[in-house]
Amino acid sequence: PISLFLVPTPIGNLKDITLRALEILKSVDVILAEDTRTTGILLKHLEISNSLQSYHIFNEHKAAEKLVERMKKGEVFALVSDAGTPAISDPGFLLVREVITAGMEVRSLPGPTAFVPALINSGLPNDRFVFEGFLPHKKGRKTRIDALVEETRTMVFYESPHRLIKTLKQLAEAFGTDRQACVSRELTKLHEENIRGTLAELIEYYQTHPLKGEIVLTVAGKAEQKESREEKRAAKYGQK
Ligand code: SAM
Repeated sequence: PISLFLVPTPIGNLKDITLRALEILKSVDVILAEDTRTTGILLKHLEISNSLQSYHIFNEHKAAEKLVERMKKGEVFALVSDAGTPAISDPGFLLVREVITAGMEVRSLPGPTAFVPALINSGLPNDRFVFEGFLPHKKGRKTRIDALVEETRTMVFYESPHRLIKTLKQLAEAFGTDRQACVSRELTKLHEENIRGTLAELIEYYQTHPLKGEIVLTVAGKAEQKESREEKRAAKYGQK
């Protein structure tokens, strides 16, 4: 039996809720929500009346332990976050780990999440990519950026609108101003936009266009150096 379902909820467009999400939200004993008010509004809209309990990162260890005890007695839970997929830059990871450690099963439902449409809309290579989530705000921020200088895979960042220009400038400094990138704003919503260009072009664009709403920043990886014929031969035969 499954003790915990992670249920994605819309990131803007309410039609993105899946049929399976509706079914699970109705059938579990308790819905755990990051914010019971936000989720309460969603459930009302979906015409689901099920018991709701808050689950936040504050005191997450203790909360997870208590929930696991209840699961052992047979209660089944669904975890939702304010928007998108729980545990993706949102609370959930700790609970998932506790449930697995206790020998019980979890199921994450597929569904809305911001980084997948952002990555694909960017038009940048997506056969290999890294999800970086939010950069640290202060401590460790530069170290994290510097560690990505040699990254050849496309990078996906979550970012708040008021920090975007600062981030674009810091990335331009580390990766060069010519690096291709894309800012995806208000995904799935009425005013969705995906602005593509070099880091320099994006900095210029957003200096004259006020930024509002939620944002995903996708940045091309470092161009892979094509090995010259000489280098290939040297690598193959172990000589310079
Ligand atoms: N769990 C969510 C997910 O699966 O995408 C992410 C939660 S995180 C706290 C919130 C961030 O996700 C925002 O700051 C933004 O970077 C991104 N995001 C969420 N909804 C978005 C949307 N509609 N358009 C663009 N970015 C969005």
